[in-house]
Amino acid sequence: MFKALFPPAKTSSFAPGKFDVGRVLGTGSFGRVSFAKHKPTGALVAIKVLSKSEVIRTRQVEHVRAEAKILRDASHPFIVNFLGSSQDEASLHFVLEYVVGGEFFTHLRCAGRFSDDASRFYASEIVLALEYLHGRGVAYRDLKPENLLVDAHGHLKITDFGFAKEIGDDGRTYTLCGTPDYLAPEIIKNKGHGFAVDWWALGVIVFEMLAGYPPFYGEDPMETYRKILEQPAEFPAHFTKHARDIIRKMLQKDVSKRIGNLKNGVRDITSHAWFASVDWRATLKKKTTPPMRPRVRSADDTSNFDDYGDAPITTRDAFELTPEEQELFVDI
Ligand code: AMP
Repeated sequence: MFKALFPPAKTSSFAPGKFDVGRVLGTGSFGRVSFAKHKPTGALVAIKVLSKSEVIRTRQVEHVRAEAKILRDASHPFIVNFLGSSQDEASLHFVLEYVVGGEFFTHLRCAGRFSDDASRFYASEIVLALEYLHGRGVAYRDLKPENLLVDAHGHLKITDFGFAKEIGDDGRTYTLCGTPDYLAPEIIKNKGHGFAVDWWALGVIVFEMLAGYPPFYGEDPMETYRKILEQPAEFPAHFTKHARDIIRKMLQKDVSKRIGNLKNGVRDITSHAWFASVDWRATLKKKTTPPMRPRVRSADDTSNFDDYGDAPITTRDAFELTPEEQELFVDI
């Protein structure tokens, strides 16, 4: 009973008291992510704090469990490193390596748009991360510029696995999730979706990097959905022939014809003419030179993140949880 009410920290060295918690770096649906220093080691980390009662209220327990498991098991140069987790009666704490360069979203908005070469560089790192995840049976399902972080050298790291899912034997799942601009048609039509949703979202991102705006944009989500389902992407004049071709193939509305989802899988993408200049082995080893290096004054610089004020992490609803509810989180 005691255990159910006050589950011990998963790794006691990551208990909340072991950190000097600094400013808020970003907010998610059920909590926030803060910069912190791990007192015993001096390691700089990002702590994602999720309110247990919010997670239960919004019926996200399974998503949160999947997030922890997938992140814990993953190890890849372009995926954020999960260092550990802990919890108290009110909240779950995921401890991640601190990625100092801020959100890719911010850099894209600042630049307006990227060159063909720069866009290919970022796309190639995303392709390798997705190939890795899909190879492990995981669909990421929330690919968007806000979930891509930039490290000190300018390489990408995918973060936020809140919608990631291990997909069952039939390779399909049915929950509607993700952000309107990046949703694949099969998600909107609720026909069951699989790994191919990530290739669709990559098509949206490649278009957005090259154009400076997304391919399907509406005043409200319904209009965005209608465009995703009905309209072809319209390419600005400066898009190259090969860029148009790969985007068209990723933004194929019929999932059974979408690149990445055909007989050759990801090889149709990695061998596409738009990626002809990419050395995939060098990319995986980070031996390539990023097109942009974020301005980083020190390892603990947080100036690349937007200001969210320093509102304290909420723990007020701790005691609304019953022992049965606490039990849901015991083995995360
Ligand atoms: P999330 O709830 O996982 O989407 O995270 C919300 C925001 O927190 C992200 O969009 C980033 O701005 C920031 N963030 C998340 N993880 C990290 C990290 N490992 N390092 C630095 N910032 C992060």
